[in-house]
Amino acid sequence: RSSFRNSKRFFGTRMVPKQTQLFIGGEWVNSANGDTFETINPYTEEPITSVQRASVDDVDRAVDAARKAFDHGPWRRMSGTERGDLLFKLAELIKKNGEELAHLEALDNGKPITLAKIVDVSNSYQTYKYYAGFANKFVGDTIPAPGNFHAYTRKEPVGVAAQIIPWNVPMLMQAWKLAPALAAGCTVVMKTAEQTPLSALRVGELIKEAGFPDGVVNILSGFGEDAGAHLVRHPGVDKVAFTGSTEVGLDIMRNSSTLGLKRVTLELGGKSPFIICEDANIEESIQQANFALFFNSGQVCVAASRLFVHEKIYDEFAEKSAKLASKAVLGNGLDPNTTQGPQISKEQQDKIWGYIQKGKQEGASCLTGGEEYEGKGFFVKPTVFADVQDDMTIAKEEIFGPVMQILKFSDYDDVIKRANNTDYGLGAGVITNDIGRAFHLTNGLRAGTVFVNCYDIFDPTLPFGGYKNSGLGRENGLEGLENYLETKTVIMSRPEGSL
Ligand code: ADP
Repeated sequence: RSSFRNSKRFFGTRMVPKQTQLFIGGEWVNSANGDTFETINPYTEEPITSVQRASVDDVDRAVDAARKAFDHGPWRRMSGTERGDLLFKLAELIKKNGEELAHLEALDNGKPITLAKIVDVSNSYQTYKYYAGFANKFVGDTIPAPGNFHAYTRKEPVGVAAQIIPWNVPMLMQAWKLAPALAAGCTVVMKTAEQTPLSALRVGELIKEAGFPDGVVNILSGFGEDAGAHLVRHPGVDKVAFTGSTEVGLDIMRNSSTLGLKRVTLELGGKSPFIICEDANIEESIQQANFALFFNSGQVCVAASRLFVHEKIYDEFAEKSAKLASKAVLGNGLDPNTTQGPQISKEQQDKIWGYIQKGKQEGASCLTGGEEYEGKGFFVKPTVFADVQDDMTIAKEEIFGPVMQILKFSDYDDVIKRANNTDYGLGAGVITNDIGRAFHLTNGLRAGTVFVNCYDIFDPTLPFGGYKNSGLGRENGLEGLENYLETKTVIMSRPEGSL
């Protein structure tokens, strides 16, 4: 296919990732101990390039730089308007370099470049722009306290934010974390995921180009067990924001408070239910459910991995869902015809394969997929399980791959109970044309986001986060900004009898 050859040639001549260093205090530097690691292309299984690996000393250096930029730098003295201008500039640079950023994302993560453009790059642009607008619009209150006092509140930045992001949507997770922190006036040390360091480094170059003062943003490529863990505990850090697995999130919650109290926000795993009611249009529901599970090769925290389908439409739904899933075009993310890229790593591929085997052993019916992928690349064939029961492992644990579970229901109160019978509470979905049913289900579901007759709609205007073990706090919207703000109450005594 010519488009494929073209994209390969394009990469060969122009798209070799250039930036591989650590971004500390406005400079690009090597790691203190000279360590590097390879980032792997999940389609070829070959290294793309070597990047500098942040050590604990580099974390110290980055926190010092962020601390200095917060405590003494020009950043604190800049107005919200000036901070907003820098964020607007960054947004424009993201847009201008969108092709290259999408290419880096497809290369490093494996995702289809067409989706990287319309989802990752475009949403990142929108996120920087949205919070740029907020930078001069958050205000305190004047409070009519009793007595001879003038009382008011100030919204002040929390300080130095440590931000740790995952590999599934690297650029967008960077935007969700950086944009509100910078709008609020915080400084940042960000550690990217070891699987996908590249797009964040390119954005680091754009941050420098936009003219942010040195040390306001520091970006470290590195691993969780050393750099990540050290960053989370660091006494110079005021706030920790993390997106990743629930297991690591619980660790971070504990570790962040070993040397003092930090503000913590977490966006963690899920096992999101999607309820397809008997009145739903079957063809449309199948499309929605397919997207809700297979988007990004199933590597989405909010993936609809428990599909509850009404018994009246169950058989037709299951059969047609399997047919649609089997039409996915597996391939190189750089090929514009690819609809499903590889999983991020061998480790993930093996883990997902383990779940598929468990599903079969525990008695679910595998309607499509379910065989091991033989070729090169960390692929998993799109797999659909029907006759899934609530107590099966594939109905309980987060799979984070292209594996769909279809469960049957008949009673609406019962399905709410079953949908809520999980420690997670990130997303949920409902398809119905009956407004009463839509309210009943939407209000009954214990999840941070409920999609009705749609799924996976993300926008910086819409708060996103989890109930229960799916997280703490919300990103996006005004709440996303408030994560990075403290409220200071100022009470000033007035002369007695004054007006
Ligand atoms: P996944 O299991 O999907 O790879 P993780 O939750 O392990 O996701 O990783 C998400 C991010 O958290 C990555 O940037 C990773 O390096 C980092 N991380 C992993 N373990 C720790 C830890 N103990 N402390 C801080 N960060 C960590």
